[in-house]
Amino acid sequence: MLCEICGRRKAAFLVEIEGAKLYACAVCAKGGKIIGKLSQKEEKVKSIDKNIEEVVVERTEDIVDDYADRIRKARQRMNIELKDLAKMLNEKESFLKHIERREMIPTIKLAKKLEKVLHIKLVEEVVRTLSTSSGAKKEEFTLADYLQGEEDGG
Ligand SMILES: [Zn+2]
Repeated sequence: MLCEICGRRKAAFLVEIEGAKLYACAVCAKGGKIIGKLSQKEEKVKSIDKNIEEVVVERTEDIVDDYADRIRKARQRMNIELKDLAKMLNEKESFLKHIERREMIPTIKLAKKLEKVLHIKLVEEVVRTLSTSSGAKKEEFTLADYLQGEEDGG
C-alpha cells in the first residue's frame, strides 16, 4: 500500500492528521500523530511498544461472489460462444463451463483476463484493518522513538 499523503512511498504507519486517519510513509508520518504501525498482508509486525495499538492491514484480492452470473451474462450479451471465449483466454472450455456453473472458482489471474475480455468486474480489492489493541493505556509515541529503536537494534 502506498502512502496516502504523498502517494509515492510505501505506507508504514497509520497516523492521525487533523482528525483523519491516514496510512502514511515514514516521512509523511512525521506530520501527524502515529496511531499504529502497519504490516503488509497477513504478516504481523512485532509490537513496537506494548502500549501502542497494533494495526494489521490485510490487503487482498477477492473474486466477487456472483462471478458465475457476471461471466455468463456478459458472455451472452456479447454473443460469445463458450468455446470461443476459451480460445481467447487460452483456457479449456470445460474449465470455463465449470466456472459458469459455480463449480469452480477462477484464479485471480484468470478473473482479470475475463474482466478485460468481457468488460466486467470480477476482482475486488478487500482491505481489512485489524486492530490488535489489548486496550492497554495509550502513551504518546513518536517516530523518532521508533527510528531510534531500529538503529539500536542491529
Ligand atoms: Zn508519504
